[in-house]
Amino acid sequence: MAGSVPIGGGCAMGLSKIKHVRAFTATGGGADYHDQQGAHWIDDHIATPMSRYPEYRQSRRSFGINVLGTLVVEIEAEDGTIGFAVTTGGEPACYIVERHLARFLEGRDPVEVEKIWDQMYFSTQYYGRKGLVINAISGVDLALWDLLGKLRGEPVCHLLGGAVRDELQFYATGARPDIARDLGFIGGKLPLHHGPAEGSEGMEKNIALLADMRGKCGDDFWLMYDCWMSLDVDYATRLAQRAWDECGLKWIEEALSPDDYWGYAQLKKNAPRGLLVTTGEHEATRWGFRMLLDMECCDIIQPDVGWCGGITELIKIAHYADTRGAMVIPHGSSVYSYHFVVTRHNSPFAEFLMMHPGPTEVVPMFAPQLLGEPVPVNGRIRASALDRPGFGVDLNPDVPLHRPYTH
Ligand SMILES: [Mg+2]
Repeated sequence: MAGSVPIGGGCAMGLSKIKHVRAFTATGGGADYHDQQGAHWIDDHIATPMSRYPEYRQSRRSFGINVLGTLVVEIEAEDGTIGFAVTTGGEPACYIVERHLARFLEGRDPVEVEKIWDQMYFSTQYYGRKGLVINAISGVDLALWDLLGKLRGEPVCHLLGGAVRDELQFYATGARPDIARDLGFIGGKLPLHHGPAEGSEGMEKNIALLADMRGKCGDDFWLMYDCWMSLDVDYATRLAQRAWDECGLKWIEEALSPDDYWGYAQLKKNAPRGLLVTTGEHEATRWGFRMLLDMECCDIIQPDVGWCGGITELIKIAHYADTRGAMVIPHGSSVYSYHFVVTRHNSPFAEFLMMHPGPTEVVPMFAPQLLGEPVPVNGRIRASALDRPGFGVDLNPDVPLHRPYTH
C-alpha cells in the first residue's frame, strides 16, 4: 500500500541477527548449586528417593547429584552483543546445544523466541520431553531473552509486561529458618531429613526438628518442609497431619515422585484443610504442569525456569495456572525467576535458596558464577534492582569455563 511503513518482522526494527551459539561447562557452585565442596547444609542427610539404600542416605553427592555441573549458553549477535544464561546440565547438555539446538538460532532474528522454542522442542521430542534436554532448551531460551533485552536496552521484566509491584518478597530455603526470620524473610523452608525407610524413629525426628524451629520462630512465621521426592502417600499424609496439628506447617513440598500425579491427587485430598501441597520443580513444559493442575495435585506449582523450558514456556505454564487459581512460586533460579515473578500477580512472593554453608548469612544464589546478582536485603529485592538490560548479570571471569564441543 502506498505510503505504508513496511513491517517485515524484527529486522524492520534493526535488531542484529544471531551469529553464533556456544555452550560451556563450569563446576563448583553456580547454577548447579548442589556442586558444593566440604560440609554444607544442602548435603547433610537430606531425605531422597535414594534414602531407602543406607549407603546413599547421608549425602546426595554419594549418589551423584552433582555429576552434571553447570551449563553456560552464550548467544552472540552479529553486532557483537552476547546474551548468556546458566542452568544445570554440564557436558551432555553442551553436546545437545552445540550439535542439535544451535542450528535453530544461527542466522535467525533474535525476536523469534516462539518459533525457535517450538523448533527446539519438537526436533528433540523423540529423545527429550523432560529432564536434561529441557534443561538445555531452557538454557538456550534464557540466553535468547538475555540477548533480546541487551539488544533492546531493556530488562527482561520489561519485555514480560513490566513489574506489577515495587519489590520482591522472599521466603528462605535452608536449614536455619530461625536465622532466616532474623534476616527479614517471610518464611523458612527446611529440608526433610528422614524418609519412610527410617521408620517411626525418623518420623519423630522430623517432627521434633519442626517443633524446635516453631518454638524458635514464633507462631506467625511460615515454616515449610521440602521432601525432595522422598516419601510415599501414606508417610506424606501422616507427616502432613502431624506437622499441621503440632507445628502449624504451611506447606509440604514435593513429597512424592514427580511421575506420581495420582499420588499427589490423593495427598491433596488427604492433607488437612489449610495445609498447602506444593510441587513442580522437577516438572517440565506446559503439558507436565497441565497434568498437575488438571488432576488437582497441588495448591502451588513451583517450576524452575532453568529446567521447565525457560521463560518462553514459563509464560504458558503461568497463564494456565492463573486460570486455575493456582499460585506460581518458581523454584530458586535467581535472576531468571526474579524478572518473571515481579511481572506476575499470581506469583506474590519468591524463593531464595540460602547457599551459605551454614546457612547463617545471605549470599548470591548462584555464587560465585555471576557478577551483579542481586540479593535480598531484609528479605526483599527492590524491582529497581532489576533495571539493567537483559537479566542484568555478567559471568564472573574468575570461574573457568570449558567448551567440550564445537560446531
Ligand atoms: Mg524443593
